Amino acid sequence: MFRLPVCPHCKTVYSYKEVKENNKKKVIKCYHCKKEFRNGRSGIILLAVIVCFVAAMINVFLLNTTSDNFISIIPISVISIIAVLIGMLLIPFFIRYKK
Ligand SMILES: [Zn+2]
Repeated sequence: MFRLPVCPHCKTVYSYKEVKENNKKKVIKCYHCKKEFRNGRSGIILLAVIVCFVAAMINVFLLNTTSDNFISIIPISVISIIAVLIGMLLIPFFIRYKK
């Protein structure tokens, strides 16, 4: 799962930056073999589920380990925002290129 996508025709590996740029396009042309392929975004749903699950787990853990009502909405919001940002950084690792 944790690897960058490759060209489905010639198996050229795309760099993190290239994948981010390719995300804007629907049809991508391989710079190596010049053949076209599509962006497979189905892995992003899986990534979103993982990020939501991890963020929820951290929040539940914090709520359970704090005896007083010290935990407020602010740290929970901060954790959720950090989780979303990390998730966005991981998007290129969950993209798969399809013919
Ligand atoms: Zn190619």
